[in-house]
Amino acid sequence: MSPWLESSWRLVVEGLQSKAPPHAWCIVHPPGVVASELTDRLLRLLLCQNPAHHEPCGQCVSCRIKETHPDLVLLEPEGAAGMIKVDSVRDSIETAYTTASMGGRRVMLVRPADCLNQASSNALLKVVEEPPSGTVFVFQTALPGKLLPTLVSRLRMVKVPTPTHEILEKTAQSLGVSHDDMLVAETLLAEPMAIKTDPERLTLARDVLKAMARVRNGEDSQVVVKSFAKADALVASIVMERVCEQLIRAQFGDVSNPVTSTLVAPYPPVTLLYQFKERISEVKKQAQAGISVNAGLALGSLFAAWGFIWTRVQG
Ligand SMILES: [Zn+2]
Repeated sequence: MSPWLESSWRLVVEGLQSKAPPHAWCIVHPPGVVASELTDRLLRLLLCQNPAHHEPCGQCVSCRIKETHPDLVLLEPEGAAGMIKVDSVRDSIETAYTTASMGGRRVMLVRPADCLNQASSNALLKVVEEPPSGTVFVFQTALPGKLLPTLVSRLRMVKVPTPTHEILEKTAQSLGVSHDDMLVAETLLAEPMAIKTDPERLTLARDVLKAMARVRNGEDSQVVVKSFAKADALVASIVMERVCEQLIRAQFGDVSNPVTSTLVAPYPPVTLLYQFKERISEVKKQAQAGISVNAGLALGSLFAAWGFIWTRVQG
């Protein structure tokens, strides 16, 4: 198991050893930090028919199932909105009330739990409050603030810490991730392991930085925006926001990272960068809330503003 997950696993074991082991868990991890390894180990342990010292035995019928376990019910986002639908929640609750097919526990995995909407959260809350016997719930999320507070109050939270730079570097080495990929992902997305967890997102993030550099070097912002293969307002706004933060920081001290090596000084005035950052936040908030923004239009206006602030560079 990855070294940064070990302390969290100890919390899981403590919970399982307690007099009343939780029947609903929530694994909370920093964005971009791989936590599924921990969640999957908990699932295997819960489903194992013959666990020893709080480890799955690896030998029993349950442990030897390679595909999805018949007693594991998955609740995942579906459809264009990327939400966990209330109908799927109702279906899986019905399943939870039937006998587990292998005679052991039934486990319901909700991942990522922040994709529950109001209706599906309420439906789940009822069954988490009074769970059918033998059913254990496992939620996983990087955004616990998006969960219904009444639901959170019923869950045993297990936090995964943010790994230190040293641990990350070691892990990057052992996973065969290049230091450059890790640094770019950390700087642009705050997701150091994005190359493993979401390589497409990292490619998109790199494209945004490249586009920002082109506009900074005087290319027409509207032409640059049109060259985007896929306009993703959320990734673009996250990257632009982080770039702004780096440029602001760079004016107060030495900053050396992929942003400052791509966009070299002199930089636009800090006040303009702050104003620009506010505009970006608005687009980001809309994109996060799933409000269907016209991505092309929103990005067009952001990139136009980005081009404008570079005309105000002094020195
Ligand atoms: Zn087993």
